[in-house]
Amino acid sequence: MSHVLAAVAWPYANGPRHIGHVSGFGVPSDVFSRYMRMAGHDVLMVSGTDEHGTPIQVQADADGVTPRELADRYNRVIVEDLHGLGLSYDLFTRTTTRNHYAVVQELFSTLHRNGYIVARTTLGAMSPSTGRTLPDRYIEGTCPICGYESARGDQCDNCGNQLDPEQLINPKSKINGETPQFVETEHFFLDLPAFAEAIGGWLDKRENWRPNVLKFSRNLLDDLQPRAITRDLEWGVPIPLDGWRDRNDKRIYVWFDAVIGYLSASIEWARRSGNPDAWRQWWSADGEGKDAPAYYFMGKDNIVFHSVIWPALLLGYSGEGDKGGKPGALGRLNLPTEVVSSEYLTMEGKKFSSSRRVVIYVRDFLERYDADALRYFIAAAGPESNDTDFTWAEFVRRNNDELVAGWGNLVNRSVSMAAKNFGAIPAPGPLTPEDEALLAVAKAGFGTVGELIGKHRQKAAIGEAMKVVAEANKYLSDQAPWKLKSEEEKPRQATVLHVVLQVVSDANTLLTPFLPHSAQKVFELLGGEGVHAPMPRIEEVDDLDGGPSYPVLTGDYTVGARWESVPVVAGTPLAAPKPVFRKLEPSVIEEELARLAG
Ligand SMILES: [Zn+2]
Repeated sequence: MSHVLAAVAWPYANGPRHIGHVSGFGVPSDVFSRYMRMAGHDVLMVSGTDEHGTPIQVQADADGVTPRELADRYNRVIVEDLHGLGLSYDLFTRTTTRNHYAVVQELFSTLHRNGYIVARTTLGAMSPSTGRTLPDRYIEGTCPICGYESARGDQCDNCGNQLDPEQLINPKSKINGETPQFVETEHFFLDLPAFAEAIGGWLDKRENWRPNVLKFSRNLLDDLQPRAITRDLEWGVPIPLDGWRDRNDKRIYVWFDAVIGYLSASIEWARRSGNPDAWRQWWSADGEGKDAPAYYFMGKDNIVFHSVIWPALLLGYSGEGDKGGKPGALGRLNLPTEVVSSEYLTMEGKKFSSSRRVVIYVRDFLERYDADALRYFIAAAGPESNDTDFTWAEFVRRNNDELVAGWGNLVNRSVSMAAKNFGAIPAPGPLTPEDEALLAVAKAGFGTVGELIGKHRQKAAIGEAMKVVAEANKYLSDQAPWKLKSEEEKPRQATVLHVVLQVVSDANTLLTPFLPHSAQKVFELLGGEGVHAPMPRIEEVDDLDGGPSYPVLTGDYTVGARWESVPVVAGTPLAAPKPVFRKLEPSVIEEELARLAG
């Protein structure tokens, strides 16, 4: 058994999340974590909502609330949605906790002390009529990169590039339309070039990464520039240096604080567990955590933050860039073992867009369909290594043909036949070669499916699990136990049903990381009691350091099924089953398309 960190990308709390988001970071990280736990590893799965930065401030201004109020609103929505999907976070927290602020400031201070954060004079915007600093969000102009006319002073929402206000063409104040003056102001920059060599050496030693991620990351190293890590903004983590700490107009840049969330959430989890040092088992590069692998899950637009910037922060904190230095108070920290990035999910051929209403939010989805139907689609047909299109027709087809007609039907047929004829799991007689062959296929699945999940090939993994289901359906058709009714044939009927129930049990275990909700139901249909697939719970907690309370996702995942075949026990009572999956009417497709068309 080893300690395994599952670090999951932080959803931004400026609105509800749609299914494109959760197909990138949410479901893949949960499948992986559930499997690793079942295989006996001690997994720490952490994340939270990312709540600072200009977009939240802008949205809050538009809604007439404070940024904190806006973040509170969407933090809760996102927590509930991820709970509905059954994502088994050990801790899903947020970036507005005092614990997070302290950890971010610890990293900032140490990087600064080690010489990796440098002050630079840049041009900042000022209002000529008032003489006051104009925060980035109040400046709008044409993007110098893509020509979009409503780019903001820190980012273009059209092409996604980060900008500085003075780069905008025709900058205007959004408050009164005047042209801002640019005056000299001081900001802090992360000296990324000082890490090029260390990151290059680290990337050279990466194995098993998806080739596109590795290539993309290597290319970034060719042109590393110092990167601004503070902004003209009131909403964010204060800069922990003398002369800056109390300034209300300068904050740490949101991307700098958000990546540190993996570490601060691990520390928060440990503090809540009663052993404040427990996080070290997943993080300490010198001590007890030195062999613990760390897997990071995200969509491909976030690769740069995980394969270059976060490693740079960790190296600088550990005193391992070109300028050397001493590790901070937390000690040397582990770098990512693997950066697992998904491609994009599109919707009916179009990019997801809340403003253009090409969207289905997680909440709306879960109101109309089961979580496992979505989890199945994402695992079997999601954007694992290619951009992938979500269509309602394909969703309904996969649900009906694969989940309902394939897996659900196997469960239903075998349990109801055994319940009707024996009222219990029947005892087997002598096994035929066909019986042995099917049992062997199911057993072999534990090796194949597990290895594929461990390599982040979830599409192939669920395909292998569904092959076991298909073999069992074929076996049932070939053996036709419903025909074995006479007194002489009864023992053979018992054997066939025993064998197929064993394979249902095995296939259910193989599918548990993907379909935890239905796996619990199938387990119970087979007479199982207690927890088979543990679920997260929402808990209202107090801030550990005196801030306001907030909801977190957490759970006890030490219980539940192991990754192994468990013999079914003859004589276990069975009742007539209720269907585990819901068949969808074809009219669903037109209804959903009509909703999209508005
Ligand atoms: Zn642009």
